[in-house]
Amino acid sequence: MRAEIISIGSELTSGQNLDTNSQWLSRRLAEMGIPVLYHTTVADDLEANLDVFRAAVRRADLVVATGGLGPTQDDLTRDVLAQTAGVELALHEPSLRHIEEMFSRRRRIMTDRNRVQAYFPANADVMPNPHGTAPGIWMTIGDCRIAAMPGVPSEMFAMFEQEVRPRLVAAGLGGGVLVQRKINCFGAGESAVEAKLLDLTCRGHVPDVGITVSDAVISLRIIAHAADLAAAQTQIGPVEQTIRERLGTFVYGEEAEELEDVVVRLLAEKRWTVATAESVTAGQVAQRLGRVPGVSEWFRGGVVAYTNFAKMNLLGVRAEMLATHGAVSAPIAEAMAVGVRQRLGTDFGVSTPGIAGPGGGTEQTPVGMVYVGLSWDGGATTMSWNWAGTRTEIQSRTAKLALNALRLQLMKTV
Ligand code: AMP
Ligand code: MG
Repeated sequence: MRAEIISIGSELTSGQNLDTNSQWLSRRLAEMGIPVLYHTTVADDLEANLDVFRAAVRRADLVVATGGLGPTQDDLTRDVLAQTAGVELALHEPSLRHIEEMFSRRRRIMTDRNRVQAYFPANADVMPNPHGTAPGIWMTIGDCRIAAMPGVPSEMFAMFEQEVRPRLVAAGLGGGVLVQRKINCFGAGESAVEAKLLDLTCRGHVPDVGITVSDAVISLRIIAHAADLAAAQTQIGPVEQTIRERLGTFVYGEEAEELEDVVVRLLAEKRWTVATAESVTAGQVAQRLGRVPGVSEWFRGGVVAYTNFAKMNLLGVRAEMLATHGAVSAPIAEAMAVGVRQRLGTDFGVSTPGIAGPGGGTEQTPVGMVYVGLSWDGGATTMSWNWAGTRTEIQSRTAKLALNALRLQLMKTV
């Protein structure tokens, strides 16, 4: 078994863009037990492409190509595959309809060039592209299987997972599967998490359980090598359940899920609204919430109240209170959360006073000291945390801390 990856595009051979698709694809294929022996990068040139594909079909059992499926004249992969196979191009009606729909949804004019993307080598299998117009091509030339996908990385990733991987598995290529499950935690140290899982994270455990920390988020990765997907899931299922049981509410999500995704989901479940009063995070809590599609129903708005002046004028924090407690304190955290909740009429208010440094720390409130305030109908709470790290780290971690505090409160109140 030998695979070849072909990256097509003059922007790659000219050095304008780096070919990152090959790296990504090689990793995915390696996980499936498929060794990659060749990486070939070729310009948008017909003769060069024909050379490359003829050689690849001869020397590899699997060719995974990306690029050259766009609508422009330099997109040659369809023609190259048809010529390499010695077949004609034929119109694929469902793809044409998909492309027409994409254009009408985006209210853009479709040109004749876009029709080209609905033509495929006769006998080829069309792989739908949910994220773009260019469908992919799956075909066999001689004994060589070929998957041709768009060059745009996000489209390629999705198409590989949804279309190519299942076809490779069905074709019996590779030596089994490698399935990963990622479980995301927040609110405890890496070693504290591992201490609860020592029997799972030990070397040689099946399935493999790894732990990594990135910007205060702890991720547990369960990696199962198995003959097929079902066998891998059987390995992963009980281990995942054990981890979730032992870690409880430290676990906030899975795979690419972020704290804000979970917060917005909880808000939506109860139809609750939130407002932010940020200081040390300077808008990062709002920015994270704003990343989640549909959040506008639940996030009314927020204030960046950096100075005492802003805290008093925008949030109604009293001057005496600031003088008595200092801006970075639990009472001010609470007053900010209450203030923004009242002003924006939301169910929840969240605040983030703190000291990001490098200057401005005192013995009582050193750099890295932050507070999160929460206010809701009938209650308020504050918590403090003392981060080590750079200004940037303190800010981004405090934004997560605030979202996590909100998540835990929403779960309690739900
Ligand atoms: P194409 O599918 O050939 O129209 O490629 C569209 C865009 O995807 C190119 O302009 C690049 O920005 C990107 N792209 C294409 N091939 C690759 C690759 N091998 N690695 C990373 N990005 C790529
Ligand atoms: Mg191209």
